[in-house]
Amino acid sequence: MAAGDRGRVMEILTTIVGCRERRRAEREAGHRVALVPTMGFLHEGHLELVRTARRTADRVWVSIFVNPTQFGPDEDYESYPRELERDAELLKHEGVDVIFAPSADEMYPREPIVEIGFSGLEHKLCGTDRPTHFAGVGIVVSQLFNVVQPDAAVFGQKDAQQVLLIRRLAHDLHFPVEIIVNPTVREQDGLAMSSRNAYLKPNERAAAPAIYHALCRGRELVEQGESSACVVRDGLIRGIESEELLKVQYAECVDADSLQDVEMIDGPVLLAVGVRVGMARLIDNVVAVPGSGPEGEA
Ligand code: AMP
Repeated sequence: MAAGDRGRVMEILTTIVGCRERRRAEREAGHRVALVPTMGFLHEGHLELVRTARRTADRVWVSIFVNPTQFGPDEDYESYPRELERDAELLKHEGVDVIFAPSADEMYPREPIVEIGFSGLEHKLCGTDRPTHFAGVGIVVSQLFNVVQPDAAVFGQKDAQQVLLIRRLAHDLHFPVEIIVNPTVREQDGLAMSSRNAYLKPNERAAAPAIYHALCRGRELVEQGESSACVVRDGLIRGIESEELLKVQYAECVDADSLQDVEMIDGPVLLAVGVRVGMARLIDNVVAVPGSGPEGEA
């Protein structure tokens, strides 16, 4: 029997007041709540996050909100795919308790003047081309943590930089929320699932798995003892751009804990890439631990 068939009623809330009321009732009933923040147009990657949330809490909330403040002026905010009805069906089937799907006006009745910065980390990797993106993520995640007040929140490793910055946000601002990270969910050919994969034309979709293959090759190099970040980075770019349709925006080999640049690899590194494929901009990453592969072991 599917989780959603257990007879629980899923509630769709659109207001902050409604959220607070429901949350108060759940707190009084002693429930532990896990929140999965999303922008909707859900795929199996999101649903895995929901299943992880279910394992840690007895009430699962999913927010669906295409957050305007994390999109730059020339980005795809208007055209970002939205399908609330279909999303709600999927989440009902997963036994989700609450969907929080506010309007932009509900979340931002006024242009916010509070800004969240991350001491420059927001300008690395994805931030090189999207300078205001993580400030917007910081604002909306803070809003969601304040409104829903979840005991736990689940995020995907697919957005590794986001995970790192949100961990710091929760830590530095003392949000009493446990941050849980789910591994990246992939298509069978290795392409990381993403709502933006819907933008890909068939030939672009066919080329896209080269991104993950290049990352795996890079990880292998590190595991086998390659210590030059430059060599690994060049390999990523060459591997990805061996497909003509793929244009690397960034390919980095950085310290996995701090995102700081490394020259010599002597600890876990994050290999992270942003790639333009036609209309889409895809990101992916893997963590590589030096000397952990069969040939790298002493
Ligand atoms: P989004 O709707 O793209 O904002 O993503 C919402 C959450 O789902 C974020 O925490 C993402 O990291 C996570 N997510 C998106 N795609 C995947 C995936 N393929 N595997 C794991 N998590 C994912």
